[in-house]
Amino acid sequence: MTETWPVLRYEDGVPIYACANHPDRETTLRCNRCGKPICTDCAVLTDVGYRCKECVYELENRFYHAQPRHVVVSLVAAAGLGFIGGILAMPIAHFIGFWSILVAFPVAGALAEGIWRAGARHRARRLNLYAALVVAFTGLMGILVGLLFFPRGLLFGLILLGITVTTVYGRLR
Ligand SMILES: [Zn+2]
Ligand SMILES: [Zn+2]
Repeated sequence: MTETWPVLRYEDGVPIYACANHPDRETTLRCNRCGKPICTDCAVLTDVGYRCKECVYELENRFYHAQPRHVVVSLVAAAGLGFIGGILAMPIAHFIGFWSILVAFPVAGALAEGIWRAGARHRARRLNLYAALVVAFTGLMGILVGLLFFPRGLLFGLILLGITVTTVYGRLR
């Protein structure tokens, strides 16, 4: 896209443009990818400089290349692993209490890795949020089932679930 944008005037040799989205705002900023003039509200500061929101969105879509089936498989895996994880967390939390936190991190990491691989390592916009919510929900179901047999596991069971949910959220970003 090589549109030319009219220069309103020059100030000390610097061209002043009207923001492409807000014609009444003057700006010297331009998107460094498409050249569109953007005001400070429209500019997004990226690692490579100021860009317009459209360019940022377009590049993000290139990064998120999961097909719907990858998302579905990831979320089904999240549901299953969350439920099993919730049930298994209860005897561990019941018998070793505080020390179960030591076990939680590697297990949460393995569970997040399992979801990531189930989706064939494809990223999707907000997949991490959805997967974390699914794990939170089915994990809680698992904890409620486990509670019938391991009543003392409730507190640390919930803590383990919290660690797992945040790990999934971070890993699938
Ligand atoms: Zn742009
Ligand atoms: Zn603007």
